[in-house]
Amino acid sequence: MSKSRALAVTLMAMVVAVAGPILVALTIADREAVRGETGRATTYARDALNRSEITTDQIDKGFRDLVALGAEPCSAASISVMRRIDIASSYIQAIGHVVGNRIICSSLGLPAGELDLGPISVVQTTGVKLRSDVAFPFAPGDTFVVVERDGFAAIVHKNLPLDATTHAKDVSLALISQSSGRVLAARGEVKPAWIAALASKGTTTFIDDTHVVAIARSARYEIATISAVPVAHLRERNWETTLVLVPIGLIAAMVLASAVLYLARLQLALPAVIKSALRRNEFSVVYQPIVDLRTRGWVGAEALIRWRRPSGEMVRPDLFIPVAEETKLIQRVTERVVHLVGQDGQGLFVRHNDFHISLNLSAADLHDFATVGLLRDLAEQMRAGPGNLIVEATERCLTDPALAGHVIGALRGQGVGVAIDDFGTGYSSLAYLESLKLDYLKIDKAFVDTLGTGAATSQVVFHIIEMAKSLGLKMIAEGVETEAQAEFLKQHGVEYAQGYLFARPMPMAELSSCLAAGASHPAVISADVVPMVAAA
Ligand code: C2E
Ligand code: CA
Ligand code: CA
Repeated sequence: MSKSRALAVTLMAMVVAVAGPILVALTIADREAVRGETGRATTYARDALNRSEITTDQIDKGFRDLVALGAEPCSAASISVMRRIDIASSYIQAIGHVVGNRIICSSLGLPAGELDLGPISVVQTTGVKLRSDVAFPFAPGDTFVVVERDGFAAIVHKNLPLDATTHAKDVSLALISQSSGRVLAARGEVKPAWIAALASKGTTTFIDDTHVVAIARSARYEIATISAVPVAHLRERNWETTLVLVPIGLIAAMVLASAVLYLARLQLALPAVIKSALRRNEFSVVYQPIVDLRTRGWVGAEALIRWRRPSGEMVRPDLFIPVAEETKLIQRVTERVVHLVGQDGQGLFVRHNDFHISLNLSAADLHDFATVGLLRDLAEQMRAGPGNLIVEATERCLTDPALAGHVIGALRGQGVGVAIDDFGTGYSSLAYLESLKLDYLKIDKAFVDTLGTGAATSQVVFHIIEMAKSLGLKMIAEGVETEAQAEFLKQHGVEYAQGYLFARPMPMAELSSCLAAGASHPAVISADVVPMVAAA
């Protein structure tokens, strides 16, 4: 990556790191505010509906009691039952007998007073007649709803179902006749558009330009309630949540941004730091055993580079190998690894002549004949025989398959085995696999991970195994972490494996002592060395 591109990428990452958490905070605040205010509106509407239904229940029961009594209208018996109903029902103000538009006697017991009700506002489909704005001389300034059925009328205070529902004075509340859409009682503004939304069933909520609206419909009566909370409350609530969440978002943004900055600085400075690390001998090599799946014996080990900064911090190879590759430092890194392996592995093959060490090569190594000389010197230094040294090349390494093929041919010619690494993760074709002469195929951890998960990609493992068999390649499965994976791979003819299940990468001293204790032949090791091998 060029420096200017790296800078551009860093800048973009910074913008995302800063804007992302803040945007998330704002979105959450917005969603929470909508949820909160919609919930409030719904509670008001349901509460008002609940009161209206109780009122209607009481009226209904009163009418049925009077009809069941069957007494002469306005008789002493009828009036006494009306009084009883009036006293017993909290929502009914009075109940009386109606003739035409007049109440001629009632629970109020007004002396000979006839009460004029005025015209009917709505006739519900059930036959119930409603008058929505009735005034009485005994209660000047108040209006009432009068419900009439079977010659009886119940008087209800208009605001009763809507009262006490809310202390927020700017919240609109309305009781509506479902069939006619007529407003029976209302507090505050009620828009025709809200009443039009009555058509759908159950509880509905929506937000228009000015209000958060909730509609609750009765399942038992032809009534519905609407409550509308001004959107100003929404903004208030949004602002309150924003005040809490945005600082959290800001902190997250700062943490992310500094992580980006840290990585970017590291990335930009890395080539120079790698050079100084080479000079200052900050690299070392660890060895991860490769086992024979049938015996669990250690047949070889992969050399993996480690970088410890003077601060003690470990830098992962995933982080610096790509940078070394891009900046042409990789061959110097490979040389260093070869040098370190040569030092570490003094006498290893003399003691264990069927053991192997495999080394990771990069594209530049595979396209340069100097690598052949490098490996020849290593083989001499380690007194390696054929098969004692293996090189691992990823598919991505083979940018010029013809040239890489020559280097690989020369390496094999001097007894170095060749493995194709991370198989299946690249985009290469089968063609090069056939054209190149190889010895091993390493099945990538990504595929091993899918074993037994039922994932579609787990099928890929079968194809890889079949392919390797048809090409006559021995297989090494990478990243084996469970017994189930190991068993599956063994059953399918995979010969070798590597992974935390068997052993983690370790320094040569540890590898050597495990080998000395018989790790390469676990079937014949004595009981007292088993724990030691297992502990490794
Ligand atoms: P790789 O060649 O695929 O090496 C295997 C990586 O998987 C190693 O990580 C190893 O420690 C890890 N591993 C092994 N078994 C398990 C397991 O069971 N579970 C999990 N989660 N991981 C497992 P490491 O050492 O961090 O190396 C990462 C990569 O860096 C290597 O992948 C290789 O591509 C590169 N690398 C390492 N050393 C060298 C080197 O000397 N030269 C070059 N060119 N590349 C190297
Ligand atoms: Ca490897
Ligand atoms: Ca690999």
